[in-house]
Amino acid sequence: MVSERIEIIEGDITRQQVDAIVNAANSSLLGGGGVDGAIHRAAGPELLAECRTLGGCPTGEARITRGYKLPARYVIHTVGPVWHGGDHNEDQLLAACYRNSLKLAVEHGVRTIAFPAISTGAYRFPLKRATRIALQEVKTSLEQEPSIAKVIFVCFGRHAYEVYREIAAEVLK
Ligand code: ADP
Repeated sequence: MVSERIEIIEGDITRQQVDAIVNAANSSLLGGGGVDGAIHRAAGPELLAECRTLGGCPTGEARITRGYKLPARYVIHTVGPVWHGGDHNEDQLLAACYRNSLKLAVEHGVRTIAFPAISTGAYRFPLKRATRIALQEVKTSLEQEPSIAKVIFVCFGRHAYEVYREIAAEVLK
């Protein structure tokens, strides 16, 4: 069952002992606030130095770097859509972030990976709608990628955790 390979926790993604953590980056890949700021602080300045060599990343795509001082070996940087009301391809772009991050993970032999709630902070994507897309897209990808053993959704705060649990009960049944 795919649902046995999906875990939902409340916590800080920078502390996760997994092969890769996903960063909700902006398209410059040169650092920002929110989870991006936390990841760069925890990884140390070498992360930004490697990001500078990548030349940015379009919305919906993903890029991979080392994790430096993080417990995770890799950081997968993906650029979520900014919410503009829902009729600017936001749903499809957000789904692409999860799909492309997992594809890159598989290509690098990643077996365990943690995701934040991409686009739901500064980019203002409605949390429930984003959560439904995240869970559905990861479920579909896991059905096709047996090499991924565990996907952890790291919820920042109790509210996000409760929303994820509620939506998972619908999507993963
Ligand atoms: P975006 O610009 O994609 O919206 P943000 O970093 O502003 O990115 O927010 C994305 C999500 O990451 C938000 O739900 C926020 O609560 C969460 N977040 C912030 N810091 C952390 C952290 N250290 N670990 C996990 N999630 C985090």
